Amino acid sequence: MGRIYLDHHATTPVDPAVVAAMLPYFTERFGNPSGKSHSFAAEAHQAVEEARARVAGLVGARPDEIVFTSGATEADTLAVRGAVRALAPTGKHVVTSVLEHAAVLEPCRTLEREGFAVTRVRVGSDGIVDLDDVRRALRPDTVLVSLMAANNEIGTLQPVAGVGALCREHGAVFHTDAVQAVGRMAVSVEDWRVDLMSLSAHKMYGPKGVGALFVRKGRRPSLRLQPQMEGGGQERGLRSGTLNVPGIVGFGAAARLASEALAKGEAGRIGSLRDRLLAALRSSIDGIDVNGRLDARLPGNLNVSIEGIEAETLLLSLGDVVALSSGAACSEAGGKGSHVLRALDLDDARVYSSIRFGIGRYNIEGEIDETARLLAHAVAESRARTASSRA
Ligand SMILES: *Cc1c(COP(=O)(O)O)cnc(C)c1O
Repeated sequence: MGRIYLDHHATTPVDPAVVAAMLPYFTERFGNPSGKSHSFAAEAHQAVEEARARVAGLVGARPDEIVFTSGATEADTLAVRGAVRALAPTGKHVVTSVLEHAAVLEPCRTLEREGFAVTRVRVGSDGIVDLDDVRRALRPDTVLVSLMAANNEIGTLQPVAGVGALCREHGAVFHTDAVQAVGRMAVSVEDWRVDLMSLSAHKMYGPKGVGALFVRKGRRPSLRLQPQMEGGGQERGLRSGTLNVPGIVGFGAAARLASEALAKGEAGRIGSLRDRLLAALRSSIDGIDVNGRLDARLPGNLNVSIEGIEAETLLLSLGDVVALSSGAACSEAGGKGSHVLRALDLDDARVYSSIRFGIGRYNIEGEIDETARLLAHAVAESRARTASSRA
């Protein structure tokens, strides 16, 4: 068996059909879609608009509500800084959560330095934000609420539809970082009542370096964003810069494949692999604790702590064979371990012994069984070493 990839929250492989769709846009169809006077420009423009329609279709949006960016980091920055700075005359308060990705947390910090106030809603050990806590955090001067749809470490699904309804009632703009949800479950900007939503192609079998921000049209009062990238006025002036045409075409192709895969029940298949993995781990390793609520998370996610284990060392020893990640490493603060696991109020031992599994489209049962076997072996060895060093 070759190498096993179980780190699909970090990135996903590009589907070969996506690569095939992209290739002509590097070579014969290389035109700049902003051009007006020749067919090179026109065919690139048409390809971008087809991709825009596909991406919009995946999330129930209109094509003219999609702004292409260099990825979700840029989309989050445009949403958070762009909306809050544009709304500064009406209020200076932002509500977000302790679970957010650094791409939301850092722009929030920047806003604080600029004099805005930020409330970070906390979570319990289930890793899910409580709707009532969001309601209590809202103030008359709250202009933006940013809450992720699904967490990238523990996979927990957040009450975005409820928060969307709250924001409508309150008059606050609602942004969701839906990077981990889009393509993995049904996502609808209408059901969630979101005003702004960030997407990333490389988390859904598309290329790296391309993402999008959904920006709702027809909102009252109308939604204004301060552009974070200024120049030639592409993307309705919200994101200047020559469009990454091959990347965008790839994003569109990935969106089409994701719709098809979801319709064929991919989430169910991946969910069974996850359940199989957890059952195999529990039957072969003592002291497995699941981090975050198990039954309200992305189908391909599993995050566990294994008693008495140094996860980073363990994963390094397996790293040439199985790709996994540890909550000890993914940290926005550096050194202290995952801010998400910390937010669940887990102690050091539990944080440093945590392993994140991200199961994806091409994983098969054999890989799941092999991973559980290898992990059980590595845990037994590590525990034997610890025991003998204590003796
Ligand atoms: C990966 C990720 C991002 C960043 O996306 P890029 O396209 O790599 O910039 C933002 N938010 C979440 C939840 C992510 O998982």
